[in-house]
Amino acid sequence: MSPPRKIGRILASPAVGQEETVQGWVYRTRSSGAIVYAVVRDSTGIIQVTVKKGNLPEEEFEAAKAAPVESSVIVTGKLFEDKRAPGGFEIKASGFKLVGGAMPFPITEYQSEELLLDNRHLWIRSREQAAVMKVKASVLEGARAWLKANDFIEVTPPILTQNACEGGVTLFKLKYFDREAYLSQSAQMYLEALIFSLDRVYSLTPSFRAEKSRTTRHLTEYWHLELEEAWTDNAGNMEVQENLVTAMVEQVLQDRQEELRLLGRDPADLREVRPPFKRVRYSQAIEALRAQGLDLSFGSDLGAVEERAFTANEKVPVFVTNFPKEIKAFYMKEDPEEPSTVKCADMLAPEGYGEIIGGSERETDLDKLVERLQALEIPMEAYQWYLDLRRFGSVPHSGFGLGIERVVRWVCRLEHIRDAVPFPRTVARCYP
Ligand code: ATP
Ligand code: MG
Repeated sequence: MSPPRKIGRILASPAVGQEETVQGWVYRTRSSGAIVYAVVRDSTGIIQVTVKKGNLPEEEFEAAKAAPVESSVIVTGKLFEDKRAPGGFEIKASGFKLVGGAMPFPITEYQSEELLLDNRHLWIRSREQAAVMKVKASVLEGARAWLKANDFIEVTPPILTQNACEGGVTLFKLKYFDREAYLSQSAQMYLEALIFSLDRVYSLTPSFRAEKSRTTRHLTEYWHLELEEAWTDNAGNMEVQENLVTAMVEQVLQDRQEELRLLGRDPADLREVRPPFKRVRYSQAIEALRAQGLDLSFGSDLGAVEERAFTANEKVPVFVTNFPKEIKAFYMKEDPEEPSTVKCADMLAPEGYGEIIGGSERETDLDKLVERLQALEIPMEAYQWYLDLRRFGSVPHSGFGLGIERVVRWVCRLEHIRDAVPFPRTVARCYP
């Protein structure tokens, strides 16, 4: 028996007449009397296997005939051209070994979203889901490569914490022996502490948010890429953001064009993504949205609806800067040129996908920070260590958080963010 090869490899350089062995799963079968047409898939593609009675041991023919979808098999046979077969080639089987049989597969062609979610552990075998996971891997790879090339050091902040970084309401609380703790919503404060020895840092961790609203862009557990750099203002940090996102997209274009097409994303759309991205002040964004008929005023937050309206006709991400102080976190630095606003930027993905990054320059003035904490009635004890960072050699610094699944959703043109993660956690679901 020839050594097994991946289907993608075989189809990339087909050697007609050569014996091939494929290890995979039955994708679909159809039989007409003495011939079984089985399509087999592996992690790289699908190929047709034609199993003809008499060309292989009788029990193997019977096995092929009876094999339900998702049985695992090892198939051997010579490769032939066949215009009608997916990929244009078929294997004429001289061997068909059943490795793991299967019960009738619970997922058939048309299924409700609920059934697919209940059977997520099986549904992730679908070609679409596999394509998304491959794109996600390239997004992460592109990010890490760019960060390394630009001297950012990966660090490992805690997940258990007593700080409520993004405000109390969406915290997952847990019992920590005889105290209370939370699952981390953001590593930001820990990253801020780490810049004093490392200058430029980033972390890639799960973040947890008890988001009660059912939206197409909120998970309760998501992968958060956060970055913090010393000696940089908000403008400098925005350059890092646009270069990083471009590098992520470029990696996907380099590795995964076929998967993008399978998902209905034209790779040409993503080739437009190049810095610099457009920069728009919050006040201008509000004006533009009012002109579209939305009922907004200075001080309104931009939610999904507003972001969708604002980015619907964009091809490339856009920054919205200088949000009003009142609607942003306490640690964001006041802009001396427009003190009602902070030096911050949200990066919004195009085509209506909305926020993928939230970033800002951080307040370095101890008194201003204390004042903001008091104004917001945030209990100060838990933040003493954070305030220490301003007491010992404080430096200007900036950073941001990027939601990996938000990027994947945009890049893959997914309707719902839950399809950007294999086992989604939302308000409605924590199983399987
Ligand atoms: P939103 O307004 O969309 O809820 P946010 O302002 O709460 O976002 P940040 O606190 O700035 O977001 O978090 C940084 C990034 O993390 C966001 O830009 C987004 O990409 C991602 N993110 C935030 N919350 C979620 C979530 N529940 N699920 C997935 N990604 C998220
Ligand atoms: Mg939020």
